Amino acid sequence: MYDPKSLKAEEFICDKEVQDTISYAEENKENIALIDEIIEKAKKRKGLTHREASVLLACEIPEKIEQIYDLAEQIKKDFYGNRIVMFAPLYLSNYCVNKCVYCPYHMQNKTIPRKKLTQEEVKQEVIALQDMGHKRLAIEAGEDPVNNPIEYILDCIHTIYSIKHKNGAIRRVNVNIAATTVENYRKLSEAGIGTYILFQETYHKETYEKLHPAGPKHNYAYHTEAMDRAMEGGIDDVGLGVLFGLDLYKYEFAALLMHAEHLEAVHGVGPHTISVPRVKKADDIDPSKFDNGISDDIFCKIAACIRVAVPYTGMIISTRESADLRENIIRLGVSQISGGSRTSVGGYQEEERPHDTEQFDVSDQRTLDEVVNWLMTAGYIPSFCTACYREGRTGDRFMSLCKSGQILNCCHPNALMTLKEYLMDYASEDTRRKGEILIEKEMEKITNPKVKEIASQRLQLIEQGIRDFRF
Ligand code: SF4
Ligand code: SF4
Repeated sequence: MYDPKSLKAEEFICDKEVQDTISYAEENKENIALIDEIIEKAKKRKGLTHREASVLLACEIPEKIEQIYDLAEQIKKDFYGNRIVMFAPLYLSNYCVNKCVYCPYHMQNKTIPRKKLTQEEVKQEVIALQDMGHKRLAIEAGEDPVNNPIEYILDCIHTIYSIKHKNGAIRRVNVNIAATTVENYRKLSEAGIGTYILFQETYHKETYEKLHPAGPKHNYAYHTEAMDRAMEGGIDDVGLGVLFGLDLYKYEFAALLMHAEHLEAVHGVGPHTISVPRVKKADDIDPSKFDNGISDDIFCKIAACIRVAVPYTGMIISTRESADLRENIIRLGVSQISGGSRTSVGGYQEEERPHDTEQFDVSDQRTLDEVVNWLMTAGYIPSFCTACYREGRTGDRFMSLCKSGQILNCCHPNALMTLKEYLMDYASEDTRRKGEILIEKEMEKITNPKVKEIASQRLQLIEQGIRDFRF
């Protein structure tokens, strides 16, 4: 029985409701009157239900798809402007007791070297990341209660926040670790994490159980209910995601939105972010073995439909995707991207990109400076802002500022100030030159004279060597 308010996975991600949604979308995919009605509703920027959004996803009428893309682009402009927040993943350990068949860290893979960073190595990785210019990390670790207990993760978070190398600092640590207990989530919350991110991988229970044949992750309900425990443990911002390619994308899409609706119904606040990774090649993993792979066109359509369905939720894309695809998809609603990523344990300290412990192939292999330069050339402002959670703007407080549009008064000047820090401390000459021109131009767009004056003073102070301003 479908019930978005239920705390039971099989009731808030009710299989029958997902199937009925897919049938409803299929039946209505050429119903122009209904599609127009849904597009009109989406224009109000209050979001769509999973059923409505699924109709848009199923629609194959070129001119309607064009309208959906245009709207996604417009919503992105209205809520996120031309800013793109930058982050990098940091792999702590690839020890894992699970057997996820799409991941090279699965415990039966005997060819991959196992590695876990010591605190000294975490420090070296963080220094390397700070020297690139990163301020925001997402830490990643396999599930292994012996090698990667919660105490280890907490020690790493503490180490990361404590390192201040030159003008560098990691100001926000997002955490991507296995589903855990309320008590452990509370410890993460007290350690000052940003967002807790957990990919569902697939919402289809039968497929989920097949793809996770053993280990604690095999338990579908425990995994799917993790965000409720995280919120109970005091974590305000959670990030959802599915690994597209494992099951049918229409199923994942509807269920993902049902999960978002569930969080809103129970906790009064939807997901902070949604990630859209696709299965990629890696050691012992051949993506062609998964027969639900999606084309670039479908992938872009999914992104556009997510954007119009949940306008207040940030959307993340990683370096799994190529530079070309990222360029295309960013305009449709992506608000955060990783740059200069290395997906191996200890990868940032190495001169050359190491492949032996990689979780997946990185398609976009450009350096952070190259990505920053490319974004600015394409008219975007790369932002290293981490202000919100440090100012206590999390959970429903953040969402209400978002919904009233007030958050924009913070995001834009914060993007410019953090970009200025990046230009002063880490950028190549060409990037710095482009960045200075961009900042000058973007300062003119600040309409509030007080904010403009303060931002302008702070930009000068950054030139004089002072760091870490925020609205
Ligand atoms: S996806 Fe995560 S839990 Fe599964 S094998 Fe890989 S590291 Fe382990
Ligand atoms: S002000 Fe808040 S919402 Fe805006 S970019 Fe910074 S952290 Fe994100």
